Amino acid sequence: MKFQDVIASIPHQFTEEEKGQLERAYEFAKVAHGSQLRSSGEEYITHPSHVASILGQLFPDTDSITAAFLHDVPEDTSTSLENIKNEFGEKVAELVDGVTKLGKVRLHSHNDPQYLENLRKLFVATSRDVRVMLIKLADRLHNMRTIEFVKPEKQRRIAIETLEVYAPIASRLGIGAWKDELEDRSFRIVDPERWEHVRNLHQRLVDSRQEAFDALKQNLNATLSDQNITFNSISGRVKKLYSLHKKLQKPGYKDNENKVADIIAFRIITSSIADCYAALGAIHQKFQPAAGSFKDYISLPKPNGYQSLHTTVFDDNGGQFEIQIRTDLMHEQAERGVAAHWFYTQSGKQSKKVSQDQSWANELRAWQEHEGDPDELLETLKLDLFSDRIFVLTPNGDVINLPLGATPIDFAFRVHSDLGFYMTGAKINGKMASIYDELEQGDMVEILKTKNPVKMSRDWLLSAKTSHARQQIKHALSQQTRWFSLRK
Ligand code: MN
Repeated sequence: MKFQDVIASIPHQFTEEEKGQLERAYEFAKVAHGSQLRSSGEEYITHPSHVASILGQLFPDTDSITAAFLHDVPEDTSTSLENIKNEFGEKVAELVDGVTKLGKVRLHSHNDPQYLENLRKLFVATSRDVRVMLIKLADRLHNMRTIEFVKPEKQRRIAIETLEVYAPIASRLGIGAWKDELEDRSFRIVDPERWEHVRNLHQRLVDSRQEAFDALKQNLNATLSDQNITFNSISGRVKKLYSLHKKLQKPGYKDNENKVADIIAFRIITSSIADCYAALGAIHQKFQPAAGSFKDYISLPKPNGYQSLHTTVFDDNGGQFEIQIRTDLMHEQAERGVAAHWFYTQSGKQSKKVSQDQSWANELRAWQEHEGDPDELLETLKLDLFSDRIFVLTPNGDVINLPLGATPIDFAFRVHSDLGFYMTGAKINGKMASIYDELEQGDMVEILKTKNPVKMSRDWLLSAKTSHARQQIKHALSQQTRWFSLRK
């Protein structure tokens, strides 16, 4: 993918200055990656170029796309973050640094739900600037699109990680288009037999519904036109494979796969909220709704911001169809999530002037404050666990969950009690640090130790935030005191 192709793929008018920065980033990455190749045998630069293109189509922010071009440079080449900072400034360097950090996180024990939860939270929390996560998601999307070139064991590891960490985050950010693609691509690799089964069933269900769908579509068109209701389009949306797979796991569907009523749903797009409700009224007048099926996500949006009216009606032959009604803006938001929100805020459609970082912070907080729909994968992403917890990494990429204000002392005792008793110092993000320093979100912490237990001071107790570390230290201090008093 050449630079001009990347730009051409993004439906956005960049200024000459912005284009200049993007082209410099492309050239910089190309030189830095030199003769490196992808597993596909292509020049390495094709990867960051595709990532930039994928990201730009969702989110045409110049600094983010610049960082997308550069995202693998510090980790995979001899060009450092410092070089990037000198060339592209602090903002871009911070984005690249965030992506590099997230790249170090590894999904080890995916059978431990607690660990998974911590991992997802780490992702969200580390990205104090959500743009970091958008770049990382675009990176993963391109890696999934080209996964056939990777060895089978590695394919599996990447697919599991995608399904359990990346897709839920895309969902949480409301980016439906990315979530769907990440899920369906990894589902096929994680469980090929099941995928095959679901795909065949999917085909059968769609085929069996097509005729009734076409008939009802005509009927809906006529109904809305007769009542003079303005709408932009009526279309069908076909359920995604992974989504069908999950639905089939729910009680009531397991042994009755043909029961899935929303394999094809109608989507009616309007220009205003009033038209949404008007359309709903007209449809309910003409077609009997299925009891309990109506959901008003316009008045009560889902935690990720999703808005739409959902209803299920009976057609003339007693078949059921789900109908989703939303405005074009809501549709845009459902596909692009937080990126669309950012875009509208930036392009001045919202009058309130908020700084970019501030709006991200508010956005995150808003999600955290929501109680959450129990069906949401990340329903546990709640405020309490966020505002006062940090997520830091061991040198192996394991995630350690600590309270805000925790120090390397807490970290050491959390990893292993013995590590605490033998600790002489700490490195934070590769640099020497004091064991009394406060850790920050996403820090990578390494504990330095000796062979013999160290003598602790009361300062340790003052700097420990976790009750676990404090107990251990108190105990050790009392032992030390006794030992010293015995020696007198
Ligand atoms: Mn990459």
